[in-house]
Amino acid sequence: MQTGKIGVTSDNLFPIIKKFLYSDHDIFLREIVSNAVDATQKLKTLAARGETGVSVENATVRVSLNEKKKTITVSDSGIGMTAEEIEKYINQIAFSGANEFLEKYKNDANAIIGHFGLGFYSAFMVSKKVEIISRSYKEGATAVKWSCDGSPEYTLEEATRDTVGTDIIMYINDESAEFLAKPRISDLLNKYCKFLPVPVIFGKKTEWKDGKEIDTDEDNQINDTAPAWTRKPADLTEEDYHKFYHQLYPYAEEPLFHIHLNVDYPFNLTGILYFPKIKNTIEVQKNKIQLYCNQVFVTDSVEGIVPEFLTLLHGVLDSPDIPLNVSRSYLQSDSNVKKISTHITKKVADRLAQLFKDNREEYEKKWDDLKIFIEYGLLTEEKFAEKADSFFLLKNTDGKYFTFDEYEKLIGDTQKDKDKKLVYLYTSNVNEQYTFVQDAKNRGYDVLIMDDPLSAHLINKLEQKYPDKRFARVDADTIDNLIRKDDAKESLSFEERQELSPVFQAVCPDSKDANYIVDFRDMGESAQPVVITRNEFMRRMKDMSKMQGGGGFYGDFPESLNLVVNTAHPLVKKILNARQEQLGAELDRFRSEIAALKQEQDTLNAALKDKKDEDIAQADKDKRTDLDKKVADIESQRKSALEAFGKDNKLTKQLVDLALLANGLLKGEDLDRFVRRSIDLIG
Ligand code: ADP
Repeated sequence: MQTGKIGVTSDNLFPIIKKFLYSDHDIFLREIVSNAVDATQKLKTLAARGETGVSVENATVRVSLNEKKKTITVSDSGIGMTAEEIEKYINQIAFSGANEFLEKYKNDANAIIGHFGLGFYSAFMVSKKVEIISRSYKEGATAVKWSCDGSPEYTLEEATRDTVGTDIIMYINDESAEFLAKPRISDLLNKYCKFLPVPVIFGKKTEWKDGKEIDTDEDNQINDTAPAWTRKPADLTEEDYHKFYHQLYPYAEEPLFHIHLNVDYPFNLTGILYFPKIKNTIEVQKNKIQLYCNQVFVTDSVEGIVPEFLTLLHGVLDSPDIPLNVSRSYLQSDSNVKKISTHITKKVADRLAQLFKDNREEYEKKWDDLKIFIEYGLLTEEKFAEKADSFFLLKNTDGKYFTFDEYEKLIGDTQKDKDKKLVYLYTSNVNEQYTFVQDAKNRGYDVLIMDDPLSAHLINKLEQKYPDKRFARVDADTIDNLIRKDDAKESLSFEERQELSPVFQAVCPDSKDANYIVDFRDMGESAQPVVITRNEFMRRMKDMSKMQGGGGFYGDFPESLNLVVNTAHPLVKKILNARQEQLGAELDRFRSEIAALKQEQDTLNAALKDKKDEDIAQADKDKRTDLDKKVADIESQRKSALEAFGKDNKLTKQLVDLALLANGLLKGEDLDRFVRRSIDLIG
């Protein structure tokens, strides 16, 4: 028997492995099983070349659990190792700067294992002793047994093994006893080894008999050795793709369609990506893209490897060229990874363009489920955005779909304003903004539906890209103002506005969540008497603040609402007349008093015009202050009188409430009062 010291430069490797690899103990089985698979495939290659007579048919990898002995054994019939090879591949773990590296990547077992080629040694994360019993395929080779108890010392001796291949026997330590349970091992194999290219057997298939689960004679193979992504697209049917999807995500809803990736230059990449219906974010996040390296599962967090918007997709990617064993920050700067990411983005865009071209009808049917994904891509990936013009769709309130170009043609002649800007009208909720949508349609305008969480961002992006286009939500203003065809004609003088505002302001809801600004416009006799609109800019800012989670600067602002009074409406005229009847004399008096005071102010100001402040006599200064105060006084009296009139005038309150009601803003006590008042008015 030979004994020796494992060749590491650091004193004792095992405490380091154990200490630093705590986060991912799971992967030991993946490492040992994939070594076994590699060894099997190497022998198969040799056999195919006629370089060995050893039989490779029906070669499998067997994983077995011995609960009594507390061992997990992985056996293969691969190429095996001679004593010299064990010496070379297992004992000589030479590396430098180990401690430093381990410290840096202590939470990333993949990085450490990959960096040092420590795959085999990961067995020591869970074992107090590991044995290798191996017989090389080489002619005349005898079996050897290597044993190591986690100290740097090992033993190497002759052993017996009838057939070519290797057994790795792991004596599981007490802290890792959890791995000595069948379901736990099944889980690990299912997670990491489900698509390995050599059959992996774990125990026997079971069946239920007389209320008990018993073993059958049939081997329990846990993997599919030729998963769909490794096969040629030409050999696969739609059915195969669906089946594979459900192999990956047993409970997921049918996907919309798939993309089969197959690249061998300038990097190796295969995979199948599926487009899920994006309705339920939780579901989407649960079923992640799985990343494989030569059919060995590596991770399902592909952030950094594919652009963020593509992480909404499902499926698998398999590439030996993605440096999986490095840290995330390194990944993002790796040029191969960048190329792969660009390639996938391009493929996805091409596929969408092709689907749209080949069968527009089908594509349109899927659009509502697809659009979040495409919008996300548009907003976050310039490369994708450049291509998206050909398959990005706008949907209008009639349920018709248009490309951006098509839509521009549709509205190009009718929806340009006086400044030649093309105005895209949209609604975020057809039901809630029904009146506004109808108003626009009655004018012969078209209205888009933009109702998802990304709409606000998308609109911003489009407006930046096309400075001659503008988006306006239908309720942002009255329709005449949304698409101004000529300069607005003032329907009231400044004075009139001053005398009318308080009447309506007095009956606006008093709420800290919303500010109402009263405005007057001649909208024609047939339009609504009072309309409530929401300032586009403020609303967008608030929407975006909300999207970014939390109030933010604009999020904390009260809503900014415009109460637009239609001065041409007969009912509004009625209010104006009533005001004249009730307050006419009083208003006249206020007006003439203010006029007189203003005259005095003007005379005084003219006299003091060229004087410096210090040269003005105190008496004049006092007079000026006094006049200001008198004007303010009368104005305030006038305001109070008008407010009192407004509050008292049932029609005013009724018209404002009707406008609030039409916007879903009338609630609680106000709504109750409105109903009672309406009944009174009818009676
Ligand atoms: P890596 O697999 O990354 O090279 P490992 O530490 O997992 O690193 O294995 C080191 C070497 O030991 C392998 O490259 C292989 O030559 C040999 N080896 C490991 N397991 C087996 C096995 N089951 N059969 C034959 N050779 C093996």
